Amino acid sequence: MNVPLFDSTTVIEPLRGSINAALLEVTEAGQFILGPNVEAFEHEFAQAVGAKHAVGVANGTEALTIALRALGVGPGDEVIVPSFSYYASAEAIPPTGATPVFCDVDPVTYLSTADQVKAVMTERTKAVIAVHLFGNVAPVAEIEALGVPVVEDAAQAAGSVGEDGRPGALGTIAAHSFYPSKNLGAFGDGGAITTSDDELAEQVKMLRFHGSRDRVTYEAVGYNSRLDEMQAAVLRILLRELPTWAAHRSSAAQRYSELGLGELVTLPEASSGSVPAWHLYVVATDQPDQLAASLAEAGIESRGYYRRPIHLQPSMSEWRPSDLSLPGTEIAAGRHLALPISASITEQQLSDVVEAVGAALR
Ligand SMILES: *Cc1c(COP(=O)(O)O)cnc(C)c1O
Repeated sequence: MNVPLFDSTTVIEPLRGSINAALLEVTEAGQFILGPNVEAFEHEFAQAVGAKHAVGVANGTEALTIALRALGVGPGDEVIVPSFSYYASAEAIPPTGATPVFCDVDPVTYLSTADQVKAVMTERTKAVIAVHLFGNVAPVAEIEALGVPVVEDAAQAAGSVGEDGRPGALGTIAAHSFYPSKNLGAFGDGGAITTSDDELAEQVKMLRFHGSRDRVTYEAVGYNSRLDEMQAAVLRILLRELPTWAAHRSSAAQRYSELGLGELVTLPEASSGSVPAWHLYVVATDQPDQLAASLAEAGIESRGYYRRPIHLQPSMSEWRPSDLSLPGTEIAAGRHLALPISASITEQQLSDVVEAVGAALR
């Protein structure tokens, strides 16, 4: 058996010809920054997400920081973020001058509930980062009903659909990542911000270009953070395939369940009414590292991604209250294990994984 944890190349193979042609066109046109492909991709991506505007930026981490800045987040403000996420979800906050405030997650959905957000809200809370972790869809409407703007971290959720729409169109503003291994991955770094608010979209465009709208007057200290033309040319081709890839990911998850994986480990629970395009298929078990070792012997790759939650990372010590208790985060961090999933995983691979998990736990 040989089942990799993820595979982002198989589905690219049949597209190589058109990708190479598109890249060649960019090199010949010679416009590498904010050219026609970026503009076209922004339009196409906004449509795919269901938001009015999309603005290309350099990566998902800066997408979060710039989205927060566009909302006016700054020194003295607090931004709530789940501690069980990829590190960048929280790393994006301090560069704005605001303080990260960590909230808990539900260890079955890996998402923060509105109650968990409410528990750490104060009068200084300026925004909440709702992470659509692993591709599951966060309860954005319920969180926004608390009266604070939600910045969606949709880095892992390209292709997912929620009860109220797609990640990126659910909150006030949203950050996306096109890091190569993501559900919609470029051939390098890339990111985007989506919003349906005209004024926020203008702010974002100003901030990504050094804080200037007209390239003459610099009204804010901004960023040099653009999606480049080569990546946009690639992404335009890949975006057309995203619905097919997303459907494959969600049906793979369904097959895992039908093959009896849920009798062996705790399966991730899709949030109410959602069809996640699982970026990572993350199960829970009492001794995940032991299971990972047995699976490795059987040629199956698996990984615990966030064993140490963000609030316990050394860089976050100054924002870690001594009495902070995040029981759901502790459970998720200690028990989770990502099993193989991709847009090209086969029925044989899925049944090999289930069989190997069964053999390891028996
Ligand atoms: C990947 C990721 C990011 C950061 O995106 P980059 O493009 O790598 O900067 C942020 N949040 C989450 C949840 C991610 O998975």
